[in-house]
Amino acid sequence: MVTSPPPDKHPKNPRLWDVLIVGAGPAGCAAALFAALGGCTVLLTEKCAVGGGMLQAPEIRDWPGEVCPIDGIALGERMRKQVLSAGAVLRYGEVTAVSLPAPTDTVTAVFSSAPAPDGTRHHTELHARHLILATGTTPPPPGIPAGTLPTDAACRTDLPHIYAIGACRTPGSSRIVTSCADGYRAVMDILGK
Ligand SMILES: Cc1cc2nc3c(=O)[nH]c(=O)nc-3n(C[C@H](O)[C@H](O)[C@H](O)COP(=O)(O)OP(=O)(O)OC[C@H]3O[C@@H](n4cnc5c(N)ncnc54)[C@H](O)[C@@H]3O)c2cc1C
Repeated sequence: MVTSPPPDKHPKNPRLWDVLIVGAGPAGCAAALFAALGGCTVLLTEKCAVGGGMLQAPEIRDWPGEVCPIDGIALGERMRKQVLSAGAVLRYGEVTAVSLPAPTDTVTAVFSSAPAPDGTRHHTELHARHLILATGTTPPPPGIPAGTLPTDAACRTDLPHIYAIGACRTPGSSRIVTSCADGYRAVMDILGK
């Protein structure tokens, strides 16, 4: 069960994040929401726009709780607000490399910020206890083997501390609700550790 965390559990720039999420489609947003509500420090990264592939959906009729169809842009905006109000931090930019944890227990990733008005990008090294790949149909960042990663029922990959959720886990058959369910599975595994 995910409950509300104490308000001071969410530093905005810790040296070590509990959960780093690559991609803010429905899968990444759901994982960010559940992890933040569970008390984790969460950094959600997005190279384009929150909502991912869902933003192209003109009418979503199979989202529980919506009697009238909702369009993907409106649902994406709701998810963005909900994730932020839960305490997750959202940064626009691209995770361009991932280093696997050995010999430490920390996953390291390189984050290139969205370009400033003058075109410059800032490159930052990020450290996290857990990394969740929610990159949809985009190939994973360098450092992660190409292709679909094998995962178990909790969305754990064979790579230590790295999970894969949503369309990058089940290419070709993903739905918004299944991507969100993957986010829940991965976070429940992380919170149970
Ligand atoms: C036209 C259309 C209509 C649809 N209608 C429905 C519908 O009615 N109901 C339904 O359930 N599903 C629908 N879908 C499917 C649904 O959109 C997908 O199942 C869902 O978006 C998958 O979510 P995801 O989070 O797994 O991946 P995505 O939505 O693909 O999100 C991945 C995100 O990761 C980001 N990303 C990738 N690489 C990086 C990186 N290195 N660094 C930072 N960010 C990165 C991408 O920019 C993207 O925002 C529709 C899809 C389309 C195209």
